[in-house]
Amino acid sequence: MNASDNSDNPTIFGRILRGEIPYKKVYEDADVLAFHDINPVAEVHFLLIPKKFIPTLADATMEDTALLGKMLSLVPRLAKEQGLIGGFRTIINTGKLGGQEVYHLHVHVFGRRPGVDSANTALAPFASSM
Ligand code: AMP
Repeated sequence: MNASDNSDNPTIFGRILRGEIPYKKVYEDADVLAFHDINPVAEVHFLLIPKKFIPTLADATMEDTALLGKMLSLVPRLAKEQGLIGGFRTIINTGKLGGQEVYHLHVHVFGRRPGVDSANTALAPFASSM
């Protein structure tokens, strides 16, 4: 873990990074961890977080440009690996009025795998899917 949340009161994601609570890993490298959402809103729903502690997207600075670019660039690869070959939805909730509940920056990626019943069915409109 690098430059992560080292406060006395880490978020739940900070605790995941510290190895204090279990999670279902999707991907990990030196900068990023991805894991399945504990309360999925779709058949596949995972989160990407930076290991660096950034509370919200509003707290990111130009110093974080490469890190944010890396995270977003990983999304299509991880989505494909999770079977989301027909498309997916990507959301970053930011701040109280943005619906953010965990104050460690994270990217939601979710969707469904193509199947007999769902191959041609798009995700529901945004407002009714979260
Ligand atoms: P947000 O509202 O954008 O802050 O979303 C926080 C997300 O974190 C929600 O979708 C939760 O289901 C998810 N979450 C909370 N605790 C855990 C956990 N221990 N492992 C995986 N996902 C979690």
